[in-house]
Amino acid sequence: MPKLAIDGARPVRSKMLPYGRQTLDEEDIQSVIHVLRSDWLTTGPNVDAFEKAFAKQTGAKYAVAVSNGTAALHGAVFATGIGPGDEVIVPPMTFAASANCVLYQGGTVVFADIRPDTLALDPGRVEAAITPRTRAIVTVDYTGQPSDLEELNQIVERHQLTLIEDAAHSLGATYHGEPIGSMADFSTFSFHPVKHITTGEGGMITTNDYNISEKLRMFRNHGITKDHHQRDIIGSWLYEMGGLGYNYRLTDFQCALGESQLKKLQERLSRRREIAGQYTQAFDSMTEIELPTILSDRESAWHLYVICLDLKQLRIGRAEIFRALRAENIGVNVHYIPVPWHPYYQNLGYIKGQWPVAESIYERIISLPIWSGMTDQDVNDVIEAVSKVIHAYRD
Ligand SMILES: *Cc1c(COP(=O)(O)O)cnc(C)c1O
Repeated sequence: MPKLAIDGARPVRSKMLPYGRQTLDEEDIQSVIHVLRSDWLTTGPNVDAFEKAFAKQTGAKYAVAVSNGTAALHGAVFATGIGPGDEVIVPPMTFAASANCVLYQGGTVVFADIRPDTLALDPGRVEAAITPRTRAIVTVDYTGQPSDLEELNQIVERHQLTLIEDAAHSLGATYHGEPIGSMADFSTFSFHPVKHITTGEGGMITTNDYNISEKLRMFRNHGITKDHHQRDIIGSWLYEMGGLGYNYRLTDFQCALGESQLKKLQERLSRRREIAGQYTQAFDSMTEIELPTILSDRESAWHLYVICLDLKQLRIGRAEIFRALRAENIGVNVHYIPVPWHPYYQNLGYIKGQWPVAESIYERIISLPIWSGMTDQDVNDVIEAVSKVIHAYRD
């Protein structure tokens, strides 16, 4: 009798469990409907309200809403003044957008390797990658655990650089007891449905610098100094385009959804932490799996739960384990293919083999489903499927 679904047995679940998904309630839905019935669909009062609520949550002085997390990164790189000839240091273990934002402004991406424990940007490697052309660092709070912000801020200060924190994974995380969002020059967030709160598509940039916040507001609105709402209040037709901007605005109904979602952040975070705790407890004794390392001076927001396979103890590779788990209808994923491995970056001349930590860990990682709407049954299904598959392929 086959034991695994991949060999023809009945899968642990009848329906695929996604690795991440949104959690919306009736209040969220009503918040959007309310705006749809109002005068403003975009650039109205809800943008301002969401920005203020977000600034409060993160402890940042200013928050600027934009159309997605990639636009937020683009805004940070723009406001830093990155241009041709400037180098920006980025970890390879991230979503391509963390690096692409540098290319949008004509800058050069220099990939620096990650720490073997947290899989986040290694400050030692950053230091070694600095040249006279280095202008900024993009650090990624990988899986939701804050990066080494203290060490990175020291490097930034010593070399007069800018620190951009890609906090797409870490809304609600804490570092030295403080919420993420006010400890870098810029922190950028995403409201894609798999992230902690969603607006469908959406993003936010936080900063403590007023001039920078104004620059970002122009950047998201064609480089224009006043939006039409402000002009309405002033009663003037005059506007000036001072720089080249984009239309990266977030609609009013999306901001209403964002504000409604933000109210439930703490409750959603505690559910994610609970699920992470259950996985850790269940897999702790399985030597074939290495569990996430969370450092004692920070709290993860648990966007992802990434396990790392000890392939020496298994008869097969990551690809086969992945397929076997998918066959059980567990929607596992891999975060991430190293960015310089993508054909586009390969064509730019990046050569594989220069980031041994990221490149070797990539062959062994699998992301397990984690999102706040998962039921206890969902969590148990994941635990059952992982245990069953690992047992079957033990060496
Ligand atoms: C989701 C994500 C982004 C991009 O956000 P979008 O809103 O999808 O544009 C950027 N960086 C990381 C690390 C992400 O996970």
